[in-house]
Amino acid sequence: MTFDSSPIAAIATAPGRGGIGVVRISGKNLASVIAALCGRERLAPRHATYLPFRRADGSPIDQGLAIHFPAPHSYTGEDVLELQGHGGPVVMQMLLARCLEAGAEIGLRLAEPGEFTQRAFLNDKIDLAQAEAVADLIEATTEAAAKSASESLSGAFSKVIHELVEQVTSLRMLVEATLDFPEEEIDFLKQSDARGQLARIRATLEDVFKHAAQGALLRDGLNAVLAGKPNVGKSSLLNVLAGSDVAIVTPIAGTTRDKVTQTILIEGMPLNVIDTAGIREAGEDGSGPDEVERIGIERTWAEVAKADVILHMLDADLGPTLEDEKITSRFPEGVPIVRIWNKIDRSGHKATVDQMPDATHVYISASEGQGVDMLRAELLRIAGWQQTVESRYLARERHLLALKAADEHLAHAAAHAALDNEAGEHALDLFAEELRLAQERLSSITGKFTPDDLLGVIFSRFCIGK
Ligand code: GDP
Repeated sequence: MTFDSSPIAAIATAPGRGGIGVVRISGKNLASVIAALCGRERLAPRHATYLPFRRADGSPIDQGLAIHFPAPHSYTGEDVLELQGHGGPVVMQMLLARCLEAGAEIGLRLAEPGEFTQRAFLNDKIDLAQAEAVADLIEATTEAAAKSASESLSGAFSKVIHELVEQVTSLRMLVEATLDFPEEEIDFLKQSDARGQLARIRATLEDVFKHAAQGALLRDGLNAVLAGKPNVGKSSLLNVLAGSDVAIVTPIAGTTRDKVTQTILIEGMPLNVIDTAGIREAGEDGSGPDEVERIGIERTWAEVAKADVILHMLDADLGPTLEDEKITSRFPEGVPIVRIWNKIDRSGHKATVDQMPDATHVYISASEGQGVDMLRAELLRIAGWQQTVESRYLARERHLLALKAADEHLAHAAAHAALDNEAGEHALDLFAEELRLAQERLSSITGKFTPDDLLGVIFSRFCIGK
């Protein structure tokens, strides 16, 4: 991703036809583009002006609203011009092409994905966690996720991170001031309540982590692999978990290809079910997956390797079979397994949850509904989903890792502080250093000390025009 600051333009509305379409331009000085497109020297700042958008020969491309947001009072912090026309793909393309033509002399070019938001970040309009929340809000697939993304966008998450950084910083300054007077080190930890302060910071961090973890779960969901031989009741289970007959088309072998994941909400928690029905091996008659399907299968196994939990479904009436063993042998190590014994209405088992050394065993009947609530509860337990947690920040894995790393540094700091004075001559030095590292990790969440290549990755995942 480039950091060049030439003016940029893009269609900001979704592709396709709609009542309105918007072309957006951002740059240092857009006066010449405004003059060329709108036929006037100046537009009243932040006012919508109805006018024709003009070609070079003066003929109109479309009639619509032009809004000029002079720097710094705009989304990006630069001059921004928004042209709202009729939302047809051809009109929008013509309008965009005309903007690029009129802006050629000031170096106007097409925006890259996320580049408007990247500029908002670089110009300190928003921090990195807020910029990520912009993308998350656009991509939200549930109301709860949208609500949490909106919270993060308004700065709720950034605020608690800032507060943590400030607390760590002030403790660190206190320690560093003492380092200049080594003879006082001995009593410092006792007298300053540094240990108490550190403990309070760690308690706050733990609370933030808990909320953020819920937010990350809300954003990304729990990835579950659904495996089992044919006819054990996998589709029936998906339907009952989804609460209604979602369109689960019985896959004709090999037709599933890319469509292997579907998301079901359990008490508001997204459960991404990766269906292994699409994984087909070569048949005994020599038939087997073609090249495209093979790629699909590889992708599915890659997904399986990343799963948070494996749901292995078996027929309780038949008991375990050789085929089940074969399926089990393909499971990646270290991923928790739930063995779901289905059809207990036939087998006569009771609906129960048994925690066994190899896996959790849940006995259900997908068709009669027995035990399904227990399975739901078990999935929520594995995910660590807490319905009681009210405010969630729509956090990302990146944030969780940073919070975890910060907590580890604080734990090291606490260990240094706990050393007794003779043993830990340099304990205060190390204490201060760990605080500094914790501070850096926390700050990376809001974008300080965030490496450029990571910034590039974050913004490149945005849609164009945002
Ligand atoms: P899949 O091939 O694993 O997706 O299995 P399906 O969900 O298509 O179910 C296979 C057959 O088992 C269907 O005829 C279902 O009606 C039946 N079935 C599914 N769950 C149950 C259950 O809990 N009890 C009984 N008796 N039959 C079930």
